[in-house]
Amino acid sequence: MGRVFVAGSINMDVVATADRHPKVGETVAGNAVHYFPGGKGANQAVAAAKLGATTALIGRLGRDAFGQQLRTFLVAQGVDLALVKDIAGIHSGTAIITIADADNTIVVVPGANALVSAEDVAAPVLAKGDVAVSQFEIPQATIGAFFKRARAAGATTILNPAPAMACGPELLELVDIMILNETELGFIAGTALADTDAPERFIEAARRLPTDADKTICVTLGKRGVLALMGGEPSLIAGRAVKAVDTTGAGDCFVGALAAQLANGKAIRDALEYANAAASICVQRMGAAPSMPTAAEVADALH
Ligand code: ATP
Repeated sequence: MGRVFVAGSINMDVVATADRHPKVGETVAGNAVHYFPGGKGANQAVAAAKLGATTALIGRLGRDAFGQQLRTFLVAQGVDLALVKDIAGIHSGTAIITIADADNTIVVVPGANALVSAEDVAAPVLAKGDVAVSQFEIPQATIGAFFKRARAAGATTILNPAPAMACGPELLELVDIMILNETELGFIAGTALADTDAPERFIEAARRLPTDADKTICVTLGKRGVLALMGGEPSLIAGRAVKAVDTTGAGDCFVGALAAQLANGKAIRDALEYANAAASICVQRMGAAPSMPTAAEVADALH
């Protein structure tokens, strides 16, 4: 059995709710504050670990209270944190979120995540059958170094280019499987896409990505499911009919579940069906990391 290595961000999401958003320069009294472990790297690692994959996170935390809380939470979820460094003089990644009028504002301060380095990703000894996963909340040069090592070891590389930002072909060339939503696809392909667009528009955009034809490109389409291009051939896996209450973390659940299945030796098609089912469970619960399903729950959904 292979292992999952996630090089990525670890954040504390601080969520304040209020009756209305303050205007610039104004202070309003809020109703409640909640602390949620987050960051795409952490969420994806939790998803993979809860589904039974041996999962290690590579990243950085500050030497602060959030860092300690995040460490305790992630270890309790079964994620190996031996490769997560505590750094003095910088804070842990923090997202400040305000929710009012059914709308939110978010300020993300990367803190220690911005310091995840090529030296950090040189630490794990990767092997054939392992799966290396990353996203755009750590420096792209670090992701490139990570994927180069993973490729040299015969591991599979998965890139989730989120949040949407530009990236060069030299990074995309190191990617075996790309998982992205319509906004990220539009950004990298250089075309505006909406989640209501016809599948043909996504296929055309995915074919325009500067990757080799034999790569797998998975475009997650929310409740519509996922469109996968394998060797250029499109195939649509329909979304599962569920009552969604909070889609936060659905994309991260999909990525973590797919990585866990591939590390488990499953074929890509089966892994895609599985990840689609796992993510459909995630959307039925509140939060990101806490809503990741267990293997037993996904098995139930698939039978
Ligand atoms: P987020 O940024 O909120 O994590 P995303 O935009 O990266 O999400 P989505 O495309 O919204 O990712 O969702 C990822 C996957 O989750 C979908 O491909 C699908 O498998 C599942 N999913 C999302 N929303 C629903 C839904 N309403 N019903 C069923 N499955 C869903």
